[in-house]
Amino acid sequence: MDSPLEEAAKIVKQVYSVIPVYDKIVPALLSGGVWDLPKTCCFSPGVPVGPMLAKPTKGVSEILDKFQNTEFTCEYKYDGERAQIHYLEDGTVQIYSRNAERHTEKFPDVVVAASRVKKPNVTSFVLDCELVAYDRKKQKILPFQILSTRARKNVVMSEIKVDVCIYAFDLLYLNGQQLLQEQLITRRERLYESFMEEPGYFQLATAITSNDLEEIQTFLVLLDTAVNASCEGLIIKTLTRDATHEPAKRSNNWLKLKKDYMDSIGDSLDLVPIAAFHGRGKRVGVYGAFLLACYDNSKDEYQTICKIGTGFSEAMLEERSTSLRSKVIPMPKSYYRYADFVNPDVWFEASEVWEVKAADLTISPVYCAAIGAVDPNKGISLRFPRLLRVRDDKGPEDASSSEMVRILFFFLVPHSLKNIFRLLKVIFFAFLFY
Ligand code: ATP
Repeated sequence: MDSPLEEAAKIVKQVYSVIPVYDKIVPALLSGGVWDLPKTCCFSPGVPVGPMLAKPTKGVSEILDKFQNTEFTCEYKYDGERAQIHYLEDGTVQIYSRNAERHTEKFPDVVVAASRVKKPNVTSFVLDCELVAYDRKKQKILPFQILSTRARKNVVMSEIKVDVCIYAFDLLYLNGQQLLQEQLITRRERLYESFMEEPGYFQLATAITSNDLEEIQTFLVLLDTAVNASCEGLIIKTLTRDATHEPAKRSNNWLKLKKDYMDSIGDSLDLVPIAAFHGRGKRVGVYGAFLLACYDNSKDEYQTICKIGTGFSEAMLEERSTSLRSKVIPMPKSYYRYADFVNPDVWFEASEVWEVKAADLTISPVYCAAIGAVDPNKGISLRFPRLLRVRDDKGPEDASSSEMVRILFFFLVPHSLKNIFRLLKVIFFAFLFY
């Protein structure tokens, strides 16, 4: 429990993040006292609120751990300038920067675009967005460095050399109603229904929304695309729970995943599909996921390492399913090492080699790669695997060996503390047996 003084300080801080103007806060404090401050002094259009910010994450696995059982969305993290666009009832527009400075004179083109793209029934709004340099001829986002060459003051429309596109990601106020306390899912609905997209001038931030683990694995693929499209990475936001807009806060409900933080086991692995599961939903008629194995040279066996269903285009999935259908066998080979409860729908003759990238390696009771290396009954498995390509130039026995998996597990995953513990464990056991 906080003391009354601490409670009061919290209230003032919270109110200041929504309306950072002492000229309004102090008179409200003097007349109505601190406990009523949130009522007497609240968000007001025309006054910028502090920007909600994101916490950094190390990678997809951390995001999945943090947002377990929570619905969330992933948006491109555009690399431009944060802007809060206030459109008031009288038709005036103000643009504020991340630091609540007025940038209206710097972006007369944005003022015009913002007024144009609102739907006719919209009479006032506060839009949270990123202004990004944009080449309208090539329909391409340009890097931040280009945006920073734009003049800062008294910009004249006819002299603008660097165009910008508004990438909208949040709506804080609409038609006289404050939306800060609404969940993101509602704010976004309002945003989508209140504006018309105009390519190169006003676009909604690209997003995927999912609470399905398989789909979430496409994060990594999406991140690659986002980075290629001159974005810094992704911002992952809660949608329906703990998803109010938190002004001036580096929130746990916004996580940023930059390319540099992206976890990957470094090297890709070449693995053999030895079984599959029938597809459901959109994937009816093809295989929906495959069981992959590495090859153990000393035991002459294929050891299961993960299930994969990510990284396939529709055409590719069709192609692989057709190709592998001719390799179906009635039961698994004696030299397949797998856990009994894996239960795939069909087994294949080992024939193809697929190059796969993953976010992490983990000890698993379900998979058997390098079984015995870390635990007598558990193997090593890949977390968040995705298909890169088929290796036509390799036969199944040229697949990555379980020895390589073991080495990757202990030594190559570079940045996590976990690996230091893994290493210490190996040294400890080596010492013990010596
Ligand atoms: P950085 O230097 O990484 O931008 P920062 O502290 O300024 O750090 P972050 O909390 O890392 O900001 O990320 C939030 C910033 O990312 C926002 O201020 C905004 O400018 C930008 N941004 C780009 N795309 C989005 C998006 N889809 N949603 C929210 N913010 C976005």
